[in-house]
Formats: sequence, C-alpha cells, structure tokens
Amino acid sequence: MADDRVNLLGLPRSELEAFVADRLGAKPFRARQLMKWIYRRGASDFAAMTDLAQDFRARLADAAKISVPEIVTEQESTDGTRKWMLRMDAVQGIETVYIPEPDRGTLCISSQVGCAMDCTFCATAQQGFNRNLSVAEIVGQVWLAHRELDLSADPGGRTDGRPDGSPSGRITNIVLMGMGEPLANYRNVVPAMRVFTDDLGYDLSRRRVTLSTSGLVPQMYKLAEECNVALAVSLHAPNDELRSELVPINRKHPIAELLAACWHYIDKQNGRSVTFEYVMLDGINDKPEHARQLARLLRGRPAKLNLIPFNVFPGTRYRRSPAAAILRFRDILNENGVIATIRRTRGDDIDAACGQLAGQVTDRTLVRLGSRLTAAARSSAEV
Ligand code: SAH
Repeated sequence: MADDRVNLLGLPRSELEAFVADRLGAKPFRARQLMKWIYRRGASDFAAMTDLAQDFRARLADAAKISVPEIVTEQESTDGTRKWMLRMDAVQGIETVYIPEPDRGTLCISSQVGCAMDCTFCATAQQGFNRNLSVAEIVGQVWLAHRELDLSADPGGRTDGRPDGSPSGRITNIVLMGMGEPLANYRNVVPAMRVFTDDLGYDLSRRRVTLSTSGLVPQMYKLAEECNVALAVSLHAPNDELRSELVPINRKHPIAELLAACWHYIDKQNGRSVTFEYVMLDGINDKPEHARQLARLLRGRPAKLNLIPFNVFPGTRYRRSPAAAILRFRDILNENGVIATIRRTRGDDIDAACGQLAGQVTDRTLVRLGSRLTAAARSSAEV
C-alpha cells in the first residue's frame, strides 16, 4: 500500500502549523510542541512524545511520520573530524561532515546527490549529478548529526540549551558546502535553512548558517529577497578566462555579474561581507599576479577571502600549491587591503576535506554543465 503519510522532518514552522490545523484540526501550539520534540530532543517516534494527548498521537501517526536518513558508514579522522555516509534511497549515498574546533562545531551538509556544475578541481563533479535532496533529506543530516553528537552525550535530550545559550549543543554552525550546488536545489534548500534558524528548530543565528554557491546569479538575487543567511561564493580565479575554465558556470554568469549579485545580497541583507572561496592550485591560479588582480576586484568591498589548499583526489590533474606560495598569495592580498585567511585542511585522511566528498552516486546524468555550455557556445557561434 502506498505510504501517503506526510514526513514532518524539515517542514518549516508555518507549514507544520498549517498541517496540524488542516489535517488534524489542532491549534498552532501543537506544531511548536512537535518541533521541540523533533529538533531539540531528536524524536522520530510520536509514541515518545509524552506531553501530547494519546489520541492526538494516534491521529498523528496515521497522517504523518518522521522519517530520517540511514547511516551507512561512519569514519573519524585523527583530527576529530567525523564523516557519515547516509543512505537516502536504495542506492544513493551522500556525505555529511562534522568539524570540531575549540570554539565551535561546524556541520558541512550536502544539498544534492552528486553535482552538475562540473568544476574541474572537485571530486563531487566527477560523480556527475543524480538528483536534488528533499527538504527532509537536507534537514535529516543535521537531525542525525545532532543525535550522534549531542544526544548521545546527553541522552535525556536538551530542552534548555547549553550553558552558553546555544540550544543545538555541539553543532554551532551549519555550512552548505558538502556535495551539490545548493542554489540549483533552491526549492528545498530555502525551507531547510528556515528550520536551521528557527528558534524551535536548530536556533542558529543567520550568521552561523552559510550557503556556498559556485555562482548561480539569478538564484542569488532571489535569495536576497527571501532568506538571510551568510553567503560564500566559490570564486577560484581573478579573471573570466581562467574562471570559465575552472568553474564552467562562469561562461554563463561572468565575474562582473557575479560580483554585482554579491554586493546586492549584502546590501539587501544588511550582511557584513561575502566570503570568497579560492582553491589554491599549483601553477594555475596561485601566482602573485593573480593575487594582485583579485585585490583589484575586491578592495574596498564587503569581502573576505578564504584560501583553500587544494585537496587531492584520485584521478585529478591538479596539485596543491606549495605552502610558501599560499602564504605569499595571502600576504599580497592583505597588503593590498583585502582580508584573506588560509583554511586549515581538516579530515583529509578520511576524504572528508573540501572537494573530496564523493558519496555513492549511481545513475548519474553524464551530460555535464561544462560540456553543455561549450556545446551551447559552439552552436551559437555557428549561427
Ligand atoms: N557547489 C557549492 C558548494 C560546495 S562548497 C560551491 O561551489 O560553492 C565546497 C567548496 O570546496 C567550494 O568552494 C569548492 O570550490 C571547494 N572545493 C572543491 N573541490 C575542492 C578541492 N579538491 N580542494 C579544495 N577545495 C575544493
């Protein structure tokens, strides 16, 4: 028999309130109670929700479910980074990474099974694209990590938060920097982010939820209207010629258009700055001249640069820039008035570092964006 029960995991508060009102004839505060159970206490079973009346729990179980992804494997790095491969359906696997630091705990989550953006230096791109994750699958990654990290340390569940006031325990930051291009799955990513920032969800401040994009300009304008999270942009090159080679979406939305969208976002959101990610590829984009070009693009703008030492993966043609080249690059930027920091590589011994997430993608679409855009450019040049 088809299971037509609604999965409550990931429903933003307004939708959950509408669901309890329309389907169960219940008051909005029931939705708030449910959210506390699902996100704070990590409940996935209505029977455990002891402060809800028994008949309400029974009606809930008929109409709804809380269905979470399944953990297939778990690995822990020598530096404490943890990586989970999660099963989303019978064959597809995606990866979620937890990066502990002394003053924070960052959860890096995926938004798609694979990715279609086809960036030449990224392991996820090599997997090709299979499908978008649903809202439940995006929020489910946080739900599982919260259960593994926080609730296992405090099995009673936290209802009132930690001494420092952050209710979500060890996960203090969420970054959409795992597999996939979040803005290509806009429809599901935005509701998920609402749950991350809702005080009855994971209650993270907007500065602690970061969406990273390779530069889908139209969706960046849309996001500026609808959602206020921190923005990171994968820049990786200071000029269009090089960027179009490394990040194929640049052929559609070149750097000037991308930067205009970034400044618009900051204006609209009252944001502090955009973090630009820049992967350091030996001999490709790491020369002093590139740093000077970058400084000219970003000086005087609300921008920070995050230099990412390239992480190797099987089959890649790139090498990591030598440490001295990375330091020099950073210094040139800083001397030219642009704040640049070097991202510390974490979890590379378990392939959990930036760009190393490959998951298990089957049935991928083998037509990649890079070749599609090249073909489109060729055919428009022919007419
Ligand atoms: N698609 C989004 C989200 C992925 S974020 C985006 O492109 O922003 C992952 C970050 O790691 C991006 O900045 C990406 O460019 C970077 N990255 C990809 N492959 C990498 C690699 N092999 N080494 C280091 N960083 C990499």
